[in-house]
Amino acid sequence: MAAEPILTVHGAAQTVTGSCFEIEHGDRRLLVDCGLFQGSRSLETLNYRPFAFDPGRIHAVILTHAHIDHSGLLPRLAAEGFRGPIWCTPPTRDLLAVMLPDSARIQEQEAERRNRRTDRADEPAVTPLYTSDDADAAIGLVRTVGLEQSFAPAEGFEARFWNAGHILGSASAELKVGDVRMLFSGDLGPEHKSFHLDPQGPHGLDHLICESTYGDRDREETTADERRAHLGDEVERALAAGGNLVVPVFALERTQELLLDLARLIDQGRIRAVQVFIDSPLASRVTEIFRGYGHRLEDLGDGEVFDHPAFHFVESVETSMRLNSVSGAIILAASGMCEAGRIRHHLRHNLARQDSTILFVGFQAQGTLGRAILDGARRVRISGRDIAVRAAIRRIDSYSAHADRGELADWAKARRPLWGSLFLVHGERAALESLRADLADLFPSVRIPEIGETYALPAGAPARRLATGRAELREAIGRDWQNDYADFAANLKNELRRIEDDERRREALATMREVLQGFRDHKAKRQARR
Ligand SMILES: [Zn+2]
Repeated sequence: MAAEPILTVHGAAQTVTGSCFEIEHGDRRLLVDCGLFQGSRSLETLNYRPFAFDPGRIHAVILTHAHIDHSGLLPRLAAEGFRGPIWCTPPTRDLLAVMLPDSARIQEQEAERRNRRTDRADEPAVTPLYTSDDADAAIGLVRTVGLEQSFAPAEGFEARFWNAGHILGSASAELKVGDVRMLFSGDLGPEHKSFHLDPQGPHGLDHLICESTYGDRDREETTADERRAHLGDEVERALAAGGNLVVPVFALERTQELLLDLARLIDQGRIRAVQVFIDSPLASRVTEIFRGYGHRLEDLGDGEVFDHPAFHFVESVETSMRLNSVSGAIILAASGMCEAGRIRHHLRHNLARQDSTILFVGFQAQGTLGRAILDGARRVRISGRDIAVRAAIRRIDSYSAHADRGELADWAKARRPLWGSLFLVHGERAALESLRADLADLFPSVRIPEIGETYALPAGAPARRLATGRAELREAIGRDWQNDYADFAANLKNELRRIEDDERRREALATMREVLQGFRDHKAKRQARR
């Protein structure tokens, strides 16, 4: 049996989605997470490339939490031959049972939509990434274990979950492989999070694999009361304008946090009586699961808060459509980054309304519609329609489910002594570099791996890189040019209109043509030189 475990990074390296780490020891292989890449189009194409390993030869999966960017490729893993156990906490299992079928439904709808497109009539039919049956097969493999209990996921591996304080059921995963101890942070929650205690974990490790989502963001310390008051101010401001307050939400956890706060604000008379529509069948399902775990969650009692008379859980598409004619309501809809789901249709009806407000309360990844709106786009395209943005665009930062820069650093420091390497993963470039700068003096070996890299993880010494990453994947991970183009094209006419007169407008167009010509000439010259 090989003395040292081998780590291969298959996702969430220099990007925040697609979490998947393979650990090989002797003839056993195990995955920590198997998540979907989410965000830009080119990033999502990574979900379709063949697995870099044989799923049939993976002995077990350890799943840190139910978010799709950590769990969303499990159905494909099962469809391609994985038969081992998927280990997670009991709440994660319950959440998976609604999250994975929902993800499968989105995949099936997406394939159907593409097959309907007439311009593809001559091309072979698109098959979904996976189906509901695959999701069910994956759910059938789940085995649960509570926090801080040792279990043996595969021969030669010993594991233990620690509260990660990120979402319901979330955990960090400690692994002992031979005589090497390592810890995968999973996603880490902030202090003062609703529902959960602060993250915990063991100390004295050989290697630490730590998320970095907000590695460059310092949030002001905010208590639950302050956060609630801030929400109250935003609600009052939005409703005073007369239109709707539309909030793109993640169905899992952010919805329930907002509902808890809205119920308290209404009950305490701190905001006017208002109707709150939860327009996401998935969010409704997840809320049911929270109700079930109410007694184990902070601030939730027996979950009766979700029965508040102001709350309306919208199921049917017809009822959802009827919301087009409402004014002065709060509408919570998924998806949280506005890439899919019913939120798009509420944005279509509210973005152009000067009296409406769009309030962002969650992370918006590069390349998503949510990020474009938040970054100040004046026009956006939704389902083939060009929409002017006139609504007020607001944001509350303090609802993060992620630890910020200081909290991440504190959590990592509390895991010391660390004898080997600290790997920074699950972050965009700036976040990773900023966290590295903060921690470099405290941890002698800090690594920022690329997708495809492989490391030997010795006991008591830094990791050694055995194979480099794949250059072609680097491209896909950044913001892709198609998003830049879409933003540019959507705003072009508007920009031209703002130029003083027709003469200058023509000049601007001529200059743009010259610039493009310049790029063509450059290419021609380079080819001539060869
Ligand atoms: Zn997460």
